Amino acid sequence: MAKNHQFTIGWICPLPLEKEAARLVLDEEYPQEEVQYQNVYYLGGCIGEHKVVIGVQRRIGLTGAAILAEKMRAGFPNIKYFLLVGIAGGVPRYGPAGAVSEIVLGDVVVSSPRGNHGGVLQYDKGAWEGQGQLNYRGHTNGVPGDLMAAVNNFRAEGWSKTNITEVLKQMRGKLNQEQKHQYDDPGPGRDRLFQDTYEHKGTELNDCKTCCDADYVDSRYDRGDRATRLVDRPSVHFGNIASSNQLQISAVERNRVQQEHDVICFEMEAAGVMDEYPCVVVRGICDYADSHKNKGWQNYAAATAAAYAKGLLSRIPAVDTTSSAPRAEGSISQQPANVTNMRFGNNHHGVQGRDFHGDVHIGRR
Ligand SMILES: [Zn+2]
Repeated sequence: MAKNHQFTIGWICPLPLEKEAARLVLDEEYPQEEVQYQNVYYLGGCIGEHKVVIGVQRRIGLTGAAILAEKMRAGFPNIKYFLLVGIAGGVPRYGPAGAVSEIVLGDVVVSSPRGNHGGVLQYDKGAWEGQGQLNYRGHTNGVPGDLMAAVNNFRAEGWSKTNITEVLKQMRGKLNQEQKHQYDDPGPGRDRLFQDTYEHKGTELNDCKTCCDADYVDSRYDRGDRATRLVDRPSVHFGNIASSNQLQISAVERNRVQQEHDVICFEMEAAGVMDEYPCVVVRGICDYADSHKNKGWQNYAAATAAAYAKGLLSRIPAVDTTSSAPRAEGSISQQPANVTNMRFGNNHHGVQGRDFHGDVHIGRR
């Protein structure tokens, strides 16, 4: 059993299916009635040395994420870090000519600074000016320095230590025959990337197999650099995540935002959390943020993201809460848990010499 003040990691799931994937990476799950605050129940358990409390948003979108984070900090006052773990749309390719990286479905994206941005940006924040163009004026706190160090260390260890394959196997091992197949890698045959101008022909429930013309599909059987794509071997990509309240299902607009802001992934929650709390975002890619978006890859992408997040947690030093008295219930602090005995730095918003608090005003386009 864990008391509320012993939880030090808040794990945010925008969708219930992401919570089910998170449940499968817990080393131990606590009884539900023991993990609650003000009659709201959370999923709680431990991963390695961390006591992790997992919450699901009531509504999708930036505000839903911000409200959940605030409620979790109120109920579990020693949460030091948030992990936002779920699914998202990815860009198919990124990087300079000659060194292009391909993102395929099931891959994982981790929020990391690139160019002018600190890992997450709300790309629809700005001012409408002139003849009706939106000029970006957003800013979002970057991934805090100590959390970014854990991301970088884990990244440097390379694939063999990341071990997503092994965690996926463990996750399936907790399920019965019928259930475990929902987390199977759907494989490159079901990974359909259509040419940018070819629009989806079916309803949003169709997976393109019968409704869309296969002649317009780019093969995803390899990763573009003749590297073979293997079952349960997703790649992990590091870069900026584009966050907004608008669902991104236009390949043309996706490409434009990618070009303007150097982003590799689109979602609808992270900016709501990053502005207030130290957070790293981990997203499994389930579609290409275009009109062909469907649900076929959602479970697997949720699983690969959860599997990566579990590994990342093993690189984050545990926070010792034994010397700290639990705070009065209901006290909400905008500051990270200062009452905990932190074993390492306390600079939650500095990102390796960059300042992401200031307005970043990208020029007119
Ligand atoms: Zn389609």
